[in-house]
Amino acid sequence: MNHLEDLLARAVAQEPVADAEWIALLGLRDPEACAMLFHAAYEVKKRYVGAKVYLRGLVEVSNLCTKNCYYCGIRRGNEHLTRFCLDRHEIVDTALQALDFHYGSVVLQAGERTDSRFADDIAEAVAEIKSASDGRLGITLSLGEQEKPVYATWFAAGAHRYLLRIEASNPALYARLHPADHSHAERLRCLELLRECGYQVGTGVMAGLPTQTLEDLWSDIRFFRDFDIDMIGMGPYLMHHDTPMPERFPDFHPTQEAQLSIGLKMIAVTRLFLRDVNIASTTALQALSPHGREEGLLAGANIIMPNLTSVRYREGYKLYDNKPGTDENAETSRDKLIESIARIGETIGFDEWGDSRHFQNRVK
Ligand code: SAH
Ligand code: SF4
Repeated sequence: MNHLEDLLARAVAQEPVADAEWIALLGLRDPEACAMLFHAAYEVKKRYVGAKVYLRGLVEVSNLCTKNCYYCGIRRGNEHLTRFCLDRHEIVDTALQALDFHYGSVVLQAGERTDSRFADDIAEAVAEIKSASDGRLGITLSLGEQEKPVYATWFAAGAHRYLLRIEASNPALYARLHPADHSHAERLRCLELLRECGYQVGTGVMAGLPTQTLEDLWSDIRFFRDFDIDMIGMGPYLMHHDTPMPERFPDFHPTQEAQLSIGLKMIAVTRLFLRDVNIASTTALQALSPHGREEGLLAGANIIMPNLTSVRYREGYKLYDNKPGTDENAETSRDKLIESIARIGETIGFDEWGDSRHFQNRVK
């Protein structure tokens, strides 16, 4: 048995694997070696969460944002953008399409706002989605950093999962990607608050950031473990031209191949290491390759978030350049997705919430 086969066999069998070996897996370059890694992660996925995909219909609620993360296309400082915000009825109507599509869950995502009008609108929208769907739709929120009473109100209204990416677990790397008033410690505190409120807690990072090392990425995965995270949303970092990133990192020009590869390897190593968590195969993977999301599933992910947002607003919610599907309505996205999932031999958990097994095991 060669060294890689031995290492992967130990990882699958949960036998000791050294930090340096995990880092070596993240650093694999040879396509055949990467394929072996993805295959091993897929075996673990089948064993712990099954060859089944759960869908969360994504509602992009608003591109208004009070923050100014250097990498993000809808940051406050980007003036080349028409801002939009769905009203409560639009949020509810968009979300309820998930019932017709049998998606089982929805995700409400937006730029960050902490005004009480926004908090109230979201609480009402969540409660309406809950009641109009007779409690059938699971509701995930991804609405940034908030105070505990806001998280608690949204939870009481019926949301039960929350996604807040730590973006980079290394505070020094985080600081290179954000203005000085964006606090890594505060982001961590918010993850604690979400846990205290009873949410299934999701976090994640961007992979392939300028100055990020393989050690950073391995620390990210250990952070997920140490924080006992239930769900992971990770994707490759992709440039947006109307952000300060090109100017701050002028020598950073990764190939699309390298970006896709690091995104997939992060999914695979996370699956091998954490086993029973939910891992999303994100749209950023699809931006790099037409079958990027399916490749994500085959590398260990088990969640996809098809977009429900009206085509009218999609152009306004470009976090990065070349975001796919901005000219494609929700029906077309759904049909293509269902076909492509069937093609790789996985089943879809239609009408199921598909809660994180890790969460179920954690609260048992
Ligand atoms: N405002 C909320 C949710 C919307 S942003 C928040 O920040 O939590 C959702 C995610 O998009 C962010 O967590 C970030 O990881 C990702 N994102 C933003 N800009 C990106 C880019 N240029 N490339 C890849 N992912 C990006
Ligand atoms: Fe706003 Fe989120 Fe983009 Fe940061 S990543 S600028 S908080 S939308």
